Amino acid sequence: MIKLIMKIIGLIWLCAFLLFGCSDTIPEFSGEKAFDYLEAQCDFGPKNPGSEGHMQCKDYFIDFLNSHGAKVSTQEFPVEIREETFQCTNIIASYYPEKPRRIFIGAHWDTRPWADRDADITKHNTPIIGANDAASGIAVLMELATILQTYEPPVYGIDLLFFDAEDAGSYGANETWCLGSEYFAENYTGKEPEYVVVIDMIGDADLDILIESFSQHSAPELVKKVWDIAKKNDIRTFSLKMTGYIYDDHYAFLEAGYEAIDIIDMEYPYWHTIEDTPDKCSAESLQDVGTVLTHLIYE
Ligand SMILES: [Zn+2]
Repeated sequence: MIKLIMKIIGLIWLCAFLLFGCSDTIPEFSGEKAFDYLEAQCDFGPKNPGSEGHMQCKDYFIDFLNSHGAKVSTQEFPVEIREETFQCTNIIASYYPEKPRRIFIGAHWDTRPWADRDADITKHNTPIIGANDAASGIAVLMELATILQTYEPPVYGIDLLFFDAEDAGSYGANETWCLGSEYFAENYTGKEPEYVVVIDMIGDADLDILIESFSQHSAPELVKKVWDIAKKNDIRTFSLKMTGYIYDDHYAFLEAGYEAIDIIDMEYPYWHTIEDTPDKCSAESLQDVGTVLTHLIYE
């Protein structure tokens, strides 16, 4: 009799495992689809504040997010770039806004107004396309949006943050960079996140993501959580080597007391040049970063 009861209990466990175990599967992130979103952004041309591409691409994002199940809101703010004032816009796409526990995942969408690292100095005032430096991070956010529309995460609601005005700064003057994320961190009044993940320049075909130093020193547990996911899934573009302190869109969140990290690969020979075009990027790189974030959201 005891044996029979044990057998029945065993069977119940097996059924429960099959039922709930299977419903826990992590959705598949498509690097190919993300790459299409990277190219779609580049088709608008440069997206520096004040440009036609900037205006049109903002509307494209808002339409895209509205048609992919997000609750979309915007923050408008003026930005002064080299003594001229431009209207800039952060876009916030909230998924499952009723869920109290939240994660912010952000990237910047504006591109640098000047190719001032180009070998050809006659190009130093030409705006860049920014396939890697802008479009790559947003491309991953857009593919995450399509996943979030279909699959509800078990625990967290997600806010995808599209920051403007990241990339019109002067080298060596931190206060001139990352103005959109700074504005966001200072003016946000919604539900607070448990942590913030920023992605930037993650499309390089030769991707090698080292651990950024502000992230490691201020949010070591979150770094460990993310890099452990990469290791578990055999994603080798995430390296355990350290890189320097990079002032990026995560910084304003750290300063405001959030747990925040930056996933970035600064070793990109086409950084702030007119050569930062889609052919330097790859679907595989987007797939790696997107897969790690998908696991973070759904595990
Ligand atoms: Zn940049």
